[in-house]
Amino acid sequence: MATKKYVYKFSEGNGTMRELLGGKGANLAEMSILGMPVPNGFTITTEACTAYYADERKINSTIMKQVWEHLAWLEKTTGKKLGDKENPLLVSVRSGARASMPGMMDTILNLGINDTVVKVIENKTQNKRFAYDSYRRFIQMFSDVVMGLSKAKFEEIIDEVKYERGVKQDIDLDAEAMVELTDKFKSFYKKNLGEEFPQDPKDQLERAIEAVFRSWMNERAIFYRRMNDIPESWGTAVNVMEMVFGNMGNDCGTGVAFTRNPATGERKLFGEFLMNAQGEDVVAGIRTPEPISKLADLMPDAFDEFVKVTQILENHYHDMQDMEFTIEHGKLFMLQTRNGKRTAAAALKIAVDMVNEGLITKDEALMMVEPRQLDDLLHPQFDAAELKAKKDDVIAKGLAASPGAACGSVVFNAADAKAQAKDGKKVILVRLETSPEDIEGMHVSQGILTVRGGMTSHAAVVARGMGACCVSGCGAITVNEDAKTFTVNGETFTEGDIISLDGSTGLVYRGVIKTVPATISGNFKKFMDWADERRQLKIRTNADTPADAKRAVEFGAEGIGLVRTEHMFFNSAERIRAIRMLCVAKNSEQRQKALDLLEPMQQADFEHIFEAMGGRSVTIRLLDPPLHEFLPKTDEEARDVADSLGVSISAVEEAANALHEFNPMMGHRGSRLDVTYPEIGVMQTRAIINAAIYINRKHPKWHVVPEIMIPLVGEPKEFDYVANIVRKTADSILSKSKSKTTYKVGTMIEIPRAALLAGEIAKTAEFFSFGTNDLTQMTFGFSRDDAGKFLSDYYDKNIYESDPFAHVDTAGVGQLIEMAAERGRATRKDIHLGVCGEHGGDPASIEFFHRVGLTYVSCSPYRVPIARLAAAQAAIKVDREKGIVAKVEPQPAKKAPAKKAAAKTAAKPAAKKAPAKAAAKAVKAEPAKAEEPAKKAPAKKAAAKTAAKKAPAKAAPKKAAAKKPAAKKAGK
Ligand code: PEP
Ligand code: MG
Repeated sequence: MATKKYVYKFSEGNGTMRELLGGKGANLAEMSILGMPVPNGFTITTEACTAYYADERKINSTIMKQVWEHLAWLEKTTGKKLGDKENPLLVSVRSGARASMPGMMDTILNLGINDTVVKVIENKTQNKRFAYDSYRRFIQMFSDVVMGLSKAKFEEIIDEVKYERGVKQDIDLDAEAMVELTDKFKSFYKKNLGEEFPQDPKDQLERAIEAVFRSWMNERAIFYRRMNDIPESWGTAVNVMEMVFGNMGNDCGTGVAFTRNPATGERKLFGEFLMNAQGEDVVAGIRTPEPISKLADLMPDAFDEFVKVTQILENHYHDMQDMEFTIEHGKLFMLQTRNGKRTAAAALKIAVDMVNEGLITKDEALMMVEPRQLDDLLHPQFDAAELKAKKDDVIAKGLAASPGAACGSVVFNAADAKAQAKDGKKVILVRLETSPEDIEGMHVSQGILTVRGGMTSHAAVVARGMGACCVSGCGAITVNEDAKTFTVNGETFTEGDIISLDGSTGLVYRGVIKTVPATISGNFKKFMDWADERRQLKIRTNADTPADAKRAVEFGAEGIGLVRTEHMFFNSAERIRAIRMLCVAKNSEQRQKALDLLEPMQQADFEHIFEAMGGRSVTIRLLDPPLHEFLPKTDEEARDVADSLGVSISAVEEAANALHEFNPMMGHRGSRLDVTYPEIGVMQTRAIINAAIYINRKHPKWHVVPEIMIPLVGEPKEFDYVANIVRKTADSILSKSKSKTTYKVGTMIEIPRAALLAGEIAKTAEFFSFGTNDLTQMTFGFSRDDAGKFLSDYYDKNIYESDPFAHVDTAGVGQLIEMAAERGRATRKDIHLGVCGEHGGDPASIEFFHRVGLTYVSCSPYRVPIARLAAAQAAIKVDREKGIVAKVEPQPAKKAPAKKAAAKTAAKPAAKKAPAKAAAKAVKAEPAKAEEPAKKAPAKKAAAKTAAKKAPAKAAPKKAAAKKPAAKKAGK
C-alpha cells in the first residue's frame, strides 16, 4: 500500500486543496502557481494533525520522515541549511486551518537560530541588532508556544531593559540591548524550565510542529470554533516556510493589507505596515503602524508591485483579500492571502459592488455572506439626533475599527467582562491592546476600546469577525489596567462608569446614547432582494404579538408560521391570572368562567395580528401550555387565582398539586387538553374565526384565511377528534355570519408517531408544520429543559458534534421529517409543509429543509433575514451540485479610475477584462463547465438523501439545549 502523503511542497498544492492543506497552505500554493513572490516552503497536512490526535498526541514516524525529506528539499532549493555555520536556514512555522481563525492558533518565527547561528547571521549581515532581535523573538515565541511560558513575563523583561536604557519603543533598543535581552530570555527560560534553551534546530522544528498541532486544542481555538461552527475534526495544517526578514533595517518592513476596507467595504486598498519590524508587531498593536499609502513614498517599487499583486489576487479569488507581506531589502514577499474577514455592512457593500463591477455573479455574491452575520445589522443603531445633541459628551476619538453602537459600563480585563456579563451587565472592555486570550471577554462585551493598535490589530480583526463594535488605537486615553481606570483630558473613568462607543466614527462618549431600531435599506435591501429571487423556500415568522409580527414583516416575513397562543397571556397580570384560572379549574363551570375571560382577549389579539400581517397567511396554534410553566408558583399567585375563581387558596393549591406531572413535556398539553376539555378548542376557534371575519370585513381585499393548527398530535383519530370540534365551531359561526371567510385545519408533526402516521393524518389535515423542538426532544428522548446539563459531555467525547436542538439532526430527526413529508404528499399532493421549531432559523438546518422540499420555514423575527439568505444559499448549492451555475451578467461599462490614482489607492476594476466575452452571451443559469467540480447530477430523491447526511457538515456551537421558549418568556 502506498504511504499516505502528509507533506506537500507549495508547488505541489493549489487553492482548491484547503481541506488538506488548510486555507493558508492552499493559498500559498495557489500564489506560487500564479508566479507571485512567495518564499519557499511546504505544508504538513490537516490529516497529519488528525493522525497526531488519533495517536494520542504523537507525530508518527511516517509524518516526521516526510518532514525531514521536505526539509532536505527546502535546504537544497534555498542553498541554505538548518543550523549551518555558513549559510543557515531560518524558517517560520505557522498554523493554518481549513477555515481562517485569525490569531487563535500559534506561529513561531525565526526557527533555526541558536548561539552559533546567531553569530553567523551577525557576520553575514553585518547587522548585530538584526541577528539578536531575531534570536530574542524566537526564544520568546518558542517559550510561549512550545513550552507554555507566559508571554507577559518576556514583555516585562523588555520593559525593564527599555526603562534601564531610557527608551520608549522596542525599535529604539540597539544591538547591545538585543544581546542583553537574548541573555535575559535564555536565563529566564532555564530558571523556569530547568533546562538550557534548545540548541538543535531539528529538535526546535519538531517541537514547534507539535506545538502548532497542539494549539488546535487551546482554549481560545476551541472557543472560536464553537462560536463559528468549525468542527473539531478538521485539524490544522502546519506551514514551514523560509524566513524573509522585515527587521533587517530601514529598507525592510512588514504589513497587512486588505483589497477593500474591511470595516466599510470601500473599494480602496487598505492596510498598515511597520518599517524594520516582523509580522507579529503589526497585529499585536505594540507600535501603531503606518497606513499603507505611506509605503508608496518610502518604497515606491515594492509598493507598486504589491498593488499589482493585490489586484491579481482579488480578481483571481473573486473576493476581498486579506494579505500579509514582508519587504526584505526592498524586495516584496507575499506570506499569506485569504478571503478577508469583514463587518456585515462591508460584506454587503463588497458583494453588491463586485456584482456591479462585473467581477462576480449574484449567486457568488449571495454565497459570499455568512447568513448569521446579518444579525449584526439588525441590532439597534445610535439615534442620529441624539448623537448630534451629545456632541459635548465626546471624550475621545479612535479608529473606527468595527461599526456598531455600544453602551455599557467600563471593565478593564476579559475576566471581569465575563463575570459582569454573566450577571447581566452590559460592559465595554477597555484595554491597552487586546490579545488572543481576551477572546471570551471580547465576545461578551458590547464593545471594545483599545489604546494601541491599528485597523488590523488583533482587537480590530477579531471584533470585526464577531460583529462586535470596536474603537481601536485611541491614543488620547491613558489606561491603568491595575487600578482599573482610564484618563482622558484630565477626566478619570473608573470601572463601572458608563461610556458609549460609535464603531462607525471611532467616537467615544461619556454616558448613554439612545438607540433606534435597525432598518433594511440600501445595499442590505438590494442584497436581500437578490436572495428572495433565488430562494424557493418561503420564510414565515414565529410571532405572538402584533409588534413582533410587524417587525417580522419589515424584515421580510411572508406570513406567520406559528402563533403560540399560550404566550399571549404573559404580558399582563390579568391575562396570566385568566390562564391560571383555566389550568386549575376543577369543573366545567370554573373552566367556562376562565374561558369567558380569555375569549375576548384572544379575539382582539388575533385581530391585531391579522392586521399587522396585512392579509398574509397566519397559522395559529391551539393552546399548548406545558402545565408546569403556568401553574401558580407563589402563595400570592395562588391567592390571586383563588380570589378570581371564588374558591379557597387550599383548593387552588390542591388543584395545582393534582396537576403535578413527572414529565410535563410529555404531559397533558397540546391536543390532549382539547381531548379532555373540548371547550378550550371551541373558545379558541371562535376567537380565531370571529377575528378573521372582522378583518375580512374591514379589509375586503385581504382574504385572511386562518390556519388553525392542532399541536402535539400522535394519532390520526386524536387529530380528527379535535379537528372536528374546530370545524363544527367554525362552520357554525361562518354560516351564521354569512361571511365568505374560509379556514384551514392542520397539525404539528412533533411526535415521532405522527411522522410515522403522516399519510393517515394527511387525509384530514390540510397542512403540516414540523415542531422540530419537540420532535428532537422525543426522538432523542432528551428533555428540552435538562439536556443542556449533560450534552457538553457528548461534545467533549465526540459522541455528538453539535446541539441537536440548534442544528437539526439530519441523520435521525431528518429521516422522520423526510418520511413524513413524503407520506403527507402521497396522500395530499399539495399539502403545505412548514417548520416552526427553532431550527427554522438555523442556516444548516434550512439547507436540509430545502433539500427535502418543504414549503416554508418559520423563525423568530430577527432571524427572518438570516433565513432568507440561508434559503437562497441552499438553492444555489443544490443547483451547483446539479451543475447549474450562473454566469457573470454584463454590467454597463463604468469609467475606469485614472491609472495613477488607481495604482495608488484602488484595487483595479476587474469589470472590463473578466467578464468580457463570456458575459456577452451570459444567461442566468446554465450547466457548469470548468467553474465547479460538477458532481453527477443526482436524482432528486437521492440528492435529498445524501444531502440529508451532508447538511450538518458544519458543527454546531455547543449551546445548551433549547428550552421551551415559553419558559424563557414567563420569566420576564
Ligand atoms: C416545537 O416543538 O418545535 C414547537 C414549535 O413548539 P414548542 O416549541 O412551542 O413546543
Ligand atoms: Mg412543540
